Parts: sequence; C-alpha cells; structure tokens
Amino acid sequence: MYQQMIGNLYIHIPFCLRKCPYCDFFSIPYDKEMEGRYCSALMHELTLRKDAICPLNTIYIGGGTPTVFEAGTIARLIEFINSNFGIENGAEITLEANPSSVSDEKLRLLRDCGVNRISIGIQSFDDMELKALGRLHNSTEAAAAIDIIRKYFGNFSIDLIYGVEGQGVEGWLRSVRTALSFSPLHISAYELTPEPATPFGRRVVEGDVSLPVEDDIAAMYDGAALAFARAGLCHYEISNFAVDGFQCRHNQNYWRRGLYIGIGAGAHSHLTCTYNNTVRSSNSADIAKYLNAIENNTLPTDETTVIDERQRLKETIFLGLRTAQGISAAEADVDCSELQPFIEHGLADLDGGRFKLTRKGFLVSNQIIGRLIAKI
Ligand code: SF4
Repeated sequence: MYQQMIGNLYIHIPFCLRKCPYCDFFSIPYDKEMEGRYCSALMHELTLRKDAICPLNTIYIGGGTPTVFEAGTIARLIEFINSNFGIENGAEITLEANPSSVSDEKLRLLRDCGVNRISIGIQSFDDMELKALGRLHNSTEAAAAIDIIRKYFGNFSIDLIYGVEGQGVEGWLRSVRTALSFSPLHISAYELTPEPATPFGRRVVEGDVSLPVEDDIAAMYDGAALAFARAGLCHYEISNFAVDGFQCRHNQNYWRRGLYIGIGAGAHSHLTCTYNNTVRSSNSADIAKYLNAIENNTLPTDETTVIDERQRLKETIFLGLRTAQGISAAEADVDCSELQPFIEHGLADLDGGRFKLTRKGFLVSNQIIGRLIAKI
C-alpha cells in the first residue's frame, strides 16, 4: 500500500456534560473513570498509525467537549505527540471548549502545554435562545468564559448558531454584536439544522417547533456577514469568518481535500491508498468497540471508501464551493456553460478562471452544488 506521511491530526474526545437536543455529533456522557483509559487508547492508536504520521502542522482536538478533560490529560497527549512525531514550529493546535467546562486554571495549563487556538461553543448571548438550544451555560457564563480565554489566547474563535426557535433577526444581530465586542480573530456562524435522528429534529417533524421563516434566515445570514465584514473578518467559507491570516488551517485542509489522520472513537481520516487514489475511513463510533480494538492492537476502522475519480470530482465541487476560493472549472471538470445561469442570477462569479459562490449563492449552495454534482 502506498503511504504518504501526514501532518494534520484530528483527535476526537466524544464526551460531553450533557447531550444537547439538536446535536448529531458522536458524543456520550462524560465519565471521569474513562478519561485516563481513553487518553491511553488515543496514544496507542497513534502508535498503531505511526508509519503515516510526520511532524504535525495542525492538530485539532474536537468533540464532544474536550474541555471536560483535565488539562493534565490534554498535556499528556500533546507531549506524547511531540516526543514521538514532533510538532512543527508555528503549528496550529486548536482545542474546542465549552463555557460550562473552562476555568482560569485549566485554560492557563492548556496554553502552557502548547494549545494555541481555542474554539468556544457559545451559540448565543441570549438566555432564552440558550435555553431553547438546551445549553448548560447562560449568557453571563458565556461572557465570563470568553474573558478568561482572552487572558491566555490571542487566537480564539466563537461559534454562534442562528435559526433558533423564537429567535428574531434583531435578537440574532445582538448576539453577533456581542460576539464582536470581544474582538475574536475568528467566528463560525452555523444555521441550526434539524437532524432527523435528534430529539430536536423529531420535534420539528411533529410540528412542535416554530422556526424562523426563510426570509428571516436569509436576513440573519446577510446581517451577520455584513457585521463581520465591517469588523474586518473576511468571509472565507460558508459559515466561517476570520481576520486575514487567522483562517483555521486545519479546516482549510479539509475543504481542499487534503489528507489528515483522525484518531479516537468516531473519528474520520483521509489517507492515501495508491499513488493516485485516496481513501476515507472512519473509526468505530461505539466506545466499547473502539477501546477493545485498540487494546487488542487493532485499528478500530469501521468503514473505508476508496475515492475514485468520480467521487474526487464530486468532493472537489462540494468542498471547494463552500470556500471563498471556489473551484477552477478545469479541476472540477465542469463545463463553463453550466455555470452561466448561476452567474446571471448573481449567485456566483467567474474570477480568474475560478468559479465562486457569492453571499447570495452561499444561501442556496446546496441546490447549486446538487445541480453541478448531478451532471457528474
Ligand atoms: S456540547 Fe457540543 S458536542 Fe456536546 S452535545 Fe452539545 S453540541 Fe453536541
């Protein structure tokens, strides 16, 4: 098997203090007893994958809620990575955090062990909306958590959610302005999507939730993008905004179809398999199976898909069109005449040979991407 060394690592910590009703990420209740065993399994998995890992350029510790772990556990993991594979100078090391599980001491220790970027799940600064989302924190705790983060990290990102039950455009823009008042270098703004397998998704199907109407959603997206632009954050991906130079490098690698290794239960990887082909694989999202496999010196791979040429083109389109860079018509093998209608309707631009969605186009990206992919 052809193997290219990879310097981008994702680490999944699937534990949360409580499951949010809208969340369809793989996450399970935090269990203190499990923390040490899971951390040892992560290190063991790294050892099993050692032939594919080179000095790391980006490390992203996501979840779940990584900050439910002790800072010492995260430090042990980073130290293990550094001593076995090396971490490049200037590497981006991100850790996802939650207001309910951070403290001054924990964030100081995390900075001291090498974490240099925090992504905090605030979602809203409105207490009613936070309640509707089933979050554990309130707006005062959210602001206090960001104040501590700012003490130790220049580079941090705030996650916000729009399209929440009972949320109006003005209420959403208040949260946007509050987020900007902390001068973050990066903001992610996601539309709340009812996933059918979640309690929230089921309530939506049963007609039990009244969500903002489509026009309001469009006004929320537009208003936020304008406010972020005025604050100097460039719109570099459908849901992501950053001061230039502070785009999330780890996530940019995903959107460029770069290779990465994901470790931990439920983590995904994109690896080489032959000189021309890549493979996407996922680890078992069953914690007991994951731990058993690793403790028996076996990779916990659940599914593996070889990415053939057709799938590669599809990925190039649906990942590339999420970004401000767009796609080159040549690399995505798209006929320019197919792009013309989108350009005429102000949904896309063709600029320097690259086809990019406009902000109006981002709002209907699923339909545009669906139409282009259907031709492949
Ligand atoms: S804290 Fe995040 S990962 Fe955990 S359940 Fe809530 S949304 Fe999901």
